[in-house]
Amino acid sequence: MKKLIVNANVFNGVDAQLIENVSVLIEDNLITQIGEIDSSLADEVIDAKGGTVMPGLIDAHVHITLSAPFNEVDTMTREEVAIRSAKISEEMLMRGFTTVRDVAGNTLGLKSSIDNGYATGPRILPSMAAISQTSGHSDYRQNRAQERIGQHEDSPMMKLGAMKVADGRAEVLKAVREQLFMGASQIKIMAGGGASSTFDPLDTLQYTLDEMKAAVEAASDYGTYVAAHIHTADAMRRAAEAGVMSFEHATIMDDEIAQIIKEKGIWVVPSYFTSSLIAERKIPLPNEETYRKTERVGKAMFKSAELIKKYDIQNLAFGTDCVGERDVHATQLNELGAIEQTFDTITALRMATSNCGRLFELSTYQHPYQEGKLGQIVEGAYADLLIIDGNPLAGVACVMDTQNQKMIMKDGVVYKNTL
Ligand SMILES: [Zn+2]
Repeated sequence: MKKLIVNANVFNGVDAQLIENVSVLIEDNLITQIGEIDSSLADEVIDAKGGTVMPGLIDAHVHITLSAPFNEVDTMTREEVAIRSAKISEEMLMRGFTTVRDVAGNTLGLKSSIDNGYATGPRILPSMAAISQTSGHSDYRQNRAQERIGQHEDSPMMKLGAMKVADGRAEVLKAVREQLFMGASQIKIMAGGGASSTFDPLDTLQYTLDEMKAAVEAASDYGTYVAAHIHTADAMRRAAEAGVMSFEHATIMDDEIAQIIKEKGIWVVPSYFTSSLIAERKIPLPNEETYRKTERVGKAMFKSAELIKKYDIQNLAFGTDCVGERDVHATQLNELGAIEQTFDTITALRMATSNCGRLFELSTYQHPYQEGKLGQIVEGAYADLLIIDGNPLAGVACVMDTQNQKMIMKDGVVYKNTL
């Protein structure tokens, strides 16, 4: 099946200029030609009416299965979590996200259901359970009376496969290999205190250097990498030494760690919008302590953005960290605006397209989608694209308004067409 998009301008995901007035040929699920193309070659012609073809959006930090406040997720059956996750995935695709990296959640069944056409949603690169030490950010026991859990049984969040606790080199190796067995395309660990968890202060260092190295070894033996939840500069120094390649949040940097990040080519996945939502107390958290922690993180984050600029850190990926009910996930597009404000338009657009595609290539043969490139409109890329009424390079507002997303295509299949 050949589809030809005509009368289009193209933002290819990388360049700061549009490729003007061209056609884009799609054969089955891949983009095979961009330029002046004879329309008699196509089975179907789509008139973009002067709109902009751009790569489908990519979010490198989502939690599809964490579809309610954590204490509520703890009370849900697997079926309820699955049904909510399917709804959230569908809504993500329908706001223009064609690929996401899930960084704590048992998304294996959801991912294969979407890939097989039994559910609608973005491509998913699953991390499966996020792994931490006991008393770390994955240790989501809700109160200290739950100490019996952990000695004898897993907490509900652990039973769902969203979180996993492992201590010591041997347990960490096993936990990582367990996620790889389940199809994780990358590994997520918690390398320092969390804002939304109750019993681990932000400044805690989580995992010894040796435990973290164990996680990196088991991942790299499987061709892939470790992404770490991380806030403080000290935690980042340790994780950088261990070989962690993706820093999630990375909110409280100092000059030294910013330089190390630049030198080692470590990826930074900040979340400016969701963090400010939490800091403004618009997302429910378990208690006062968790609010205090998120307020601190929310302020530090924008100082770290200045260090990102100062040291010209280019390995930046778009990640929203949307977690909770549908209304929180519905704010997903706002991160584009937050990045545009913090950096500029082209940075926001690259982060949400080609940069994520490059980051995901660190998964090598564990990458679930190896047939084409992700996040770019080039020959040989997956036909994951949006047609926008407007020019995204003039400002991301036209992408953020779903009314302007006239067409959503994933894997060559049209999910929305209001052209
Ligand atoms: Zn997160």
